[in-house]
Amino acid sequence: MMKVIIVGGVAAGMSAAAKLKRANKEAQITVYEKSRHVSFGACGLPYFVGNFFEDSQKMIARTVEQFNASGITVNIEHEVLNVDTDNKCITVKNLLTGETFTDTYDKLMIATGASAIIPPIKNVDLKHVYTLKSMEDGEALKHAMQNEALKRVAIVGAGFIGLEVVEAAKQYGKEVHVFQLNDRVLVDTFDKEITDLLEEELRAHDVHLHLSQTVTELVGDEAVTQIKTNDETFDVDIVVLTAGVRPNTSFLKGTGIEMLRNGALVIDHEGRTSIEDIYAAGDCASINHILKSEPAYIPLATVANKMGRIIGENLAGAHHTFNGSLASACLKVMNLEAGRTGLSEQEAINLGINYKTVFITDMNQTSYYPGQSKINVKLIYNADTKVILGGQIVGRKDAVQRVNVLATAIFAGLTTDQLAMLDLCYAPPFARTWDVLNIAGSVAK
Ligand code: FAD
Repeated sequence: MMKVIIVGGVAAGMSAAAKLKRANKEAQITVYEKSRHVSFGACGLPYFVGNFFEDSQKMIARTVEQFNASGITVNIEHEVLNVDTDNKCITVKNLLTGETFTDTYDKLMIATGASAIIPPIKNVDLKHVYTLKSMEDGEALKHAMQNEALKRVAIVGAGFIGLEVVEAAKQYGKEVHVFQLNDRVLVDTFDKEITDLLEEELRAHDVHLHLSQTVTELVGDEAVTQIKTNDETFDVDIVVLTAGVRPNTSFLKGTGIEMLRNGALVIDHEGRTSIEDIYAAGDCASINHILKSEPAYIPLATVANKMGRIIGENLAGAHHTFNGSLASACLKVMNLEAGRTGLSEQEAINLGINYKTVFITDMNQTSYYPGQSKINVKLIYNADTKVILGGQIVGRKDAVQRVNVLATAIFAGLTTDQLAMLDLCYAPPFARTWDVLNIAGSVAK
């Protein structure tokens, strides 16, 4: 009987486990998970913190008991310490008893995710300094937000999670300060036309943006009371560190598994690492970027779930492949929706592509039906062929679903001319007869 061990029991790991069990009922599947939860949707954390919902258990898709009942052996509070790839053996520590033991596998899947990066700031271990990755992080941060005496929140890092925490903090009426190393928010994912609009929205909600600022030090006796940057000092009561994530792969050092520079395990289209019978997926691994045709680091739940499922099928003997990712991602910034897919303009520059862009502002729907608002579309496309390479949209309503249309268009290799004449739906509450995407396509010369 084939024995499969999966290390890490969230999006990638449990997608693979569930799929493998369905594909091969006989497979012996053991999951080792360091935390107390499996199948935990971290994407809900900002909204849990902001009290959009109260019960943290709603972020658990399937419980340990449900997995065990399906024939998958799940060991929570068990950390895998190392992998002996020659002898196909792992060392595991039971975090409850402290006991260490070994286990062997025929096939191994690494799905250990990523951890929040702690930037080099003095005194990050003061009280009321948080990260937001685990259920426990979310519970602790929510508890602090609910404390009315803690009025000022500093968010260090203006990426997706940092900006989602802004909304959470605003739900409690906090004074919010965002500190960002770069001169604009979301610098790695969106272009300036879009981030200008998002920054305007943040400022309109009295969010204090401190751009081009390096946070150097936190100050306080027991709890944090001040944050210092290279330029200034501000009084704060809560600090949230949202400076990105790093793959949890240090326990694999010395195994010889190929990694990207940040430690992400390099995988092929089937999810295989450079070592036979070892697979990997999710935030601990690379993924093929469809437009770059090279391994990229795209730590998103969408990618983790899909690659995890493909690996589940392949562990059962298939040779299914995942095309890869377009790095399609979206977020809500106060009352605005923003989404992106494919290449940003900066990525097109880095790849040396002869590209053009178009940026338009139009209306999301007809004027006479309530709810009309502006919507902004940026397209990046090949200057020679007009094939669409990237798209970013921001607006108050239906921006993100239109990004999904662009992701489909890019996947299918459509040109801007084809987008201009694409048969998109229309009714007054949803669009205009010529949807904003048709207009963007037709404006692209
Ligand atoms: P993880 O979810 O990180 O799970 C890995 C598991 O492995 C962890 O439970 C960990 O305890 C365990 N583990 C680690 N090392 C070991 C070890 N040595 N032994 C045993 N177990 C180990 N993505 C989106 O697509 N959309 C969103 O809106 C979105 N919002 C997010 C909001 C927040 C606040 C966060 C933190 C993430 C968000 N993400 C979002 C990203 C998404 O949550 C991740 O991409 C996804 O969880 C990755 O799944 P994973 O299985 O690879 O890793």
